[in-house]
Amino acid sequence: MDECYFSPSCCHIDLAALTRNFFRMGDPSTLMPVIKSDAYGHGLLPVARALDKAGALHFAVGTVSEGALLRNVGFHQQIVPLLGVVSQDEWNASFALKLTTPILDVKSMQMAAHACPDHEIFPVAVALNTGMGRLGFSVDDMPDLIEGLHRYPMLKPVVAFSHYACADIPEESSYTLAQQERFKSMTNALRAFFPDLSRSLNNSAGLQVFGEGAFDLSRPGITLYGGNPFVGTPWESKGSDFEWVMSVSAPILQVHALKGGESVSYGRCFTAPHDMTIAILAMGYATGFPRSLSNRADVLINGRRCPQIGRVCMGMIACDVSQLGSAEAGDLGWIMGGNPDPGQRAVTADELAKELDTISYEVLCHFGATNRRVYS
Ligand SMILES: *Cc1c(COP(=O)(O)O)cnc(C)c1O
Repeated sequence: MDECYFSPSCCHIDLAALTRNFFRMGDPSTLMPVIKSDAYGHGLLPVARALDKAGALHFAVGTVSEGALLRNVGFHQQIVPLLGVVSQDEWNASFALKLTTPILDVKSMQMAAHACPDHEIFPVAVALNTGMGRLGFSVDDMPDLIEGLHRYPMLKPVVAFSHYACADIPEESSYTLAQQERFKSMTNALRAFFPDLSRSLNNSAGLQVFGEGAFDLSRPGITLYGGNPFVGTPWESKGSDFEWVMSVSAPILQVHALKGGESVSYGRCFTAPHDMTIAILAMGYATGFPRSLSNRADVLINGRRCPQIGRVCMGMIACDVSQLGSAEAGDLGWIMGGNPDPGQRAVTADELAKELDTISYEVLCHFGATNRRVYS
């Protein structure tokens, strides 16, 4: 064994689907694909390599550490670490690695300037807060920002970005449009001094609603991985063109009879109403299948949906396979994806997210972070 895995469950990452999703978004030169958090659980390097082949010129990551990894294996793209940095060391590393790290406030401008050797120029990003209330300069901070850029002429803002709070919520359209207006006026003020400054506002939802023409660079994340930011809203069809990139499999460890009246798993929260056949699969809360899903999800086994029954354990779940013609140890259960028989549907990250009262992003991140990954 080359590596030690704690579960035989597995994430299958379809890089061809990722590439097709990327091409569906428009001209690669208008896109800064978001590959933060290990590419939403899909794996930073394999995803970056696929996007590089597809012509990506920009990447958004979370940390300088991710940016450093990309640089060290030779990626030449513009790289923006969206979280910014808080230490002088990271600012120094940003300069050395040519990362387009965002300035967030006057303090971070000081550190950025300090990282830049005399007579050199440091291209940076500018984070603008237009209504998300998270990072960056707000409207009231614009005088400080502009004054700071004059005080530190070595800092050259090359991209200004802001983030939508609710571009995926139809009822919040007016808030989204107000963010757009604010972004326009803030970036116009900057462009008076830096005419080449490029602007980036769209996330996945913004890109689907406003198109690639809305400002210069879009930053799609979830749609790249096949998720629909509008799921469950009247705009659902605007985000349904994308293919899921991740599937998750778990092998059956044992198949056995559960007689009527017998129970399975901890807490005895499932008792067989009649004689049944059950399969025990190698999947559990340690590999991204939350315990709160107990008795509330299906697994696709040999093409058909089988209800998960009983408490979810750390590394095992049980499924009712009574309806299947055959199921045996070694067969794969598909927690998401797989090949459904005619008339059957694959389980999706959206379906699990709905059951968990969360969003597909979280489901993908957890499966990806806790399972071995194979690529095709
Ligand atoms: C995560 C993130 C994105 C991508 O958002 P999606 O909804 O996945 O498209 C874009 N910009 C910023 C600043 C982010 O943090």
